[in-house]
Amino acid sequence: MRIEKTLSIIKPDIVKKNQIGEIINFLEKKGLKVVGMKMVHLTIQKAKRFYQEHQNRPFFEGMVKFMCSSPVVVMCLEGENAIKLNREIMGATNPHEAKEGTIRKIYGKNIEANAIHGSDSEEAAEQEINFFLKANYSINKIKN
Ligand code: ADP
Ligand code: MG
Repeated sequence: MRIEKTLSIIKPDIVKKNQIGEIINFLEKKGLKVVGMKMVHLTIQKAKRFYQEHQNRPFFEGMVKFMCSSPVVVMCLEGENAIKLNREIMGATNPHEAKEGTIRKIYGKNIEANAIHGSDSEEAAEQEINFFLKANYSINKIKN
């Protein structure tokens, strides 16, 4: 058993459709616990820093603009194998290629408006949680 933390972001397409609650409900029902959460409206500069690994990709500017088109909900999720489990629950990057029953299949519109972000490795999870939720008070210890 391996309890991990991962970073999740509910993207602007979901926020604009008033579906934040549905996504959180979906993640919780799959066994992921929300241990940190905040709503932020990213600046272009901050979104570029967050996605810097993609800075040379052709979609970079458009994707950054999309991520800044409304507030987003940033969450730290905790659970057994949370990083991999969250990626499975999310589904493939392109909603059209995502498996049935995944968040991106159900809620995603296209490869840009794909509903949700999730850390893809232990290193990314640690770095991304620090990026958004660094202060100790923003991650809680919850006893069941
Ligand atoms: P993931 O979010 O599944 O980890 P990536 O890290 O490869 O995917 O890409 C980061 C984000 O960039 C994706 O979630 C998506 O919103 C956007 N993106 C990736 N590829 C494309 C593309 N070909 N066209 C437009 N946006 C893209
Ligand atoms: Mg990624």
